[in-house]
Amino acid sequence: MHMKVMVKQESPRICVSGFASNNKMAAKSCCSCKIGPSILNADLSCLTDECNRLLECGADYLHLDVMDGHFVPNLTFGAPLVKCLRKKVPDAFFDMHMMVANPEKWVDDMADAGADQYTFHLEATEKPVDLINQIKKAGMKVGVGIKPNTPVEAVLPFVELVDMVLVMTVEPGFGGQKFMADMMPKVKHLRTKYRVLDIEVDGGVGIPTIEAAAQAGANMIVSGSAIIKSDKPKEVIDALRATTEKWIKINSETSQ
Ligand SMILES: [Zn+2]
Repeated sequence: MHMKVMVKQESPRICVSGFASNNKMAAKSCCSCKIGPSILNADLSCLTDECNRLLECGADYLHLDVMDGHFVPNLTFGAPLVKCLRKKVPDAFFDMHMMVANPEKWVDDMADAGADQYTFHLEATEKPVDLINQIKKAGMKVGVGIKPNTPVEAVLPFVELVDMVLVMTVEPGFGGQKFMADMMPKVKHLRTKYRVLDIEVDGGVGIPTIEAAAQAGANMIVSGSAIIKSDKPKEVIDALRATTEKWIKINSETSQ
């Protein structure tokens, strides 16, 4: 399985523990800030251009929302599109947010399509450990997500087995929803317990809400409409990064 190198930057960004964050998605070695635009609200008819534009604006990875019309009411796209996109965007890290029932079903297809990380919903499977092993065997990193009504305690038994935990800050299934600040205790709980875990937030994250998310301890920031709909996407990405890096530093100092 190929490893994706992070998007080239003019100078490497150094995170608090000294790893350059643009070499690779360092799994558990470093809690560095990574900004992952969601292309959900992009112009899907020219997705390659949209992805390249976001990467040029400083995106660290691309968050690709897969919806199946069962786990969530909407439909988006599947592995065939990812496979085409991979050919056109060879170096970006693809984080697949699988908002699907039976996530076991699409693991091999997504690995074959060139996905780097497979983020499933804990609510969608009865055998999370088997699924985690299946994803690893397919050569991808593993993310596990929880919906707003799922307590953080539900994911704790699996944290040590995965690369990333996604705390949804809206109900999955639609773009453009309002950020749920009352999800932040979940993020804080995870960050207090796991200092180097990648913790992702997804839903309603933009300039007005990044402070709360980053303060709680999120380091992987998914942002859809706030970046896509801005006429200055680079400035939005830079601002999200500045706030997230500020809180990574503060939180690492206060937890020592
Ligand atoms: Zn998502």
